[in-house]
Amino acid sequence: MSNVQVAVVTGSNKGIGLAIVRALCKQFPGDVYLTSRDPGRGQAAVAQLQQEGLRPLFHQLDIDDLQSIRALRDFLKEKYGGLNVLVNNAGIAFKVHDTTPFAIQAEVTLKTNFFGTRNVCTELLPLMKPYGRVVNVSSMVSSSALGGCSQELQQKFRSDTITEEELVQLMTKFVEDTKKSVHQKEGWPNTAYGVSKIGVTVLSRIQARLLNEKRKGDHILLNACCPGWVRTDMAGPKATKSPDEGAETPVYLALLPSDADAPHGQFVSNKTVKPW
Ligand code: NAP
Repeated sequence: MSNVQVAVVTGSNKGIGLAIVRALCKQFPGDVYLTSRDPGRGQAAVAQLQQEGLRPLFHQLDIDDLQSIRALRDFLKEKYGGLNVLVNNAGIAFKVHDTTPFAIQAEVTLKTNFFGTRNVCTELLPLMKPYGRVVNVSSMVSSSALGGCSQELQQKFRSDTITEEELVQLMTKFVEDTKKSVHQKEGWPNTAYGVSKIGVTVLSRIQARLLNEKRKGDHILLNACCPGWVRTDMAGPKATKSPDEGAETPVYLALLPSDADAPHGQFVSNKTVKPW
């Protein structure tokens, strides 16, 4: 088993994830895994970074596929005995003018952004080594969507005692409510992406709390963040930040020094903790 440190970035064949891998290859003192659900797209991205003189490694990972997540888990366990840095970056968003029925958009978006990210955490967080860093890429849209929730839902999502099971039930309820066209009556905002990212931010707060309870001495720091508005296939060419600029906050959180004890369990934007 190797003593080399290891970092994994989900959904990193393009966009912000690729830029995070680029920055980690330059700054992280260990192996950096570019992962992609499609090996062809992943290998092409590895080749692109190799042309820049960088040496990322590759592993397949589809966060919608539990078998794929578990294959990566087993690989990391066997080759490295764990994991030092995990960046949950993979995500999807329907375009504003997409005509797919809202209930389908809700199901598909929540499946990847919330349930897929959660499954990666369930399988990989137990592998995190002492002083490990976990970064869940959420969005400022999670904050605005929270503001669009009923007072009752806002209270639940801001609660310091909400459990992961309760959060899963709420995310499941959102999808069910969209199918019955009652989601707005039930206090949800009219944004599937926004609700999925509420899920990612709240999940991060819960996971950080659990780390405090169960692994206090291990100095693991886990945060959610917004990369900003970034020119990628998701956000389009009018966005204000380049992918490398969008990578700055996630990379800052991934490389928090070993003597840092904060931020932890926070929502961070522009390297600054934001109120939730
Ligand atoms: P992007 O260019 O569309 O890239 C998304 C990446 O996620 C792609 O590599 C995609 O792979 C991957 N992905 C999607 N579903 C996946 C799955 N099931 N398994 C594994 N990988 C999967 O988007 P981006 O703008 O870089 O977004 C990266 C993250 O930042 C997302 O979580 C997004 O919500 C968040 N974010 C972006 C912005 C922005 O302005 N761009 C703002 C706030 C937050 P394929 O190539 O195979 O589709």
